[in-house]
Amino acid sequence: MLTEIVTDQQLIDLYTTQGYLVAVDYPKKEVKLHTIDCMLADPISSVGVKPSKARENNTGEFWVSESRDEAVSKAEEIANNKGYTYTVCPICDR
Ligand SMILES: [Zn+2]
Repeated sequence: MLTEIVTDQQLIDLYTTQGYLVAVDYPKKEVKLHTIDCMLADPISSVGVKPSKARENNTGEFWVSESRDEAVSKAEEIANNKGYTYTVCPICDR
């Protein structure tokens, strides 16, 4: 099931679960796929995504799924609709 993430805490609560994060960066016109345990998908990390802030400033959106296929479909759909670049994160790709 695909769930939209709108706060940092939602993502923090999911950290120990298996799943995938679709991170959409509006200013960079980029859609990235991460595993939920990637440091770049961790709001607590200084380099991690910040859903609360992105929501507040309208600079991005985030989706989580336990299914990689579902997450990839969503990522590709957003990338196609918006004309953004879709990439799989090189750090957590596996
Ligand atoms: Zn990653």
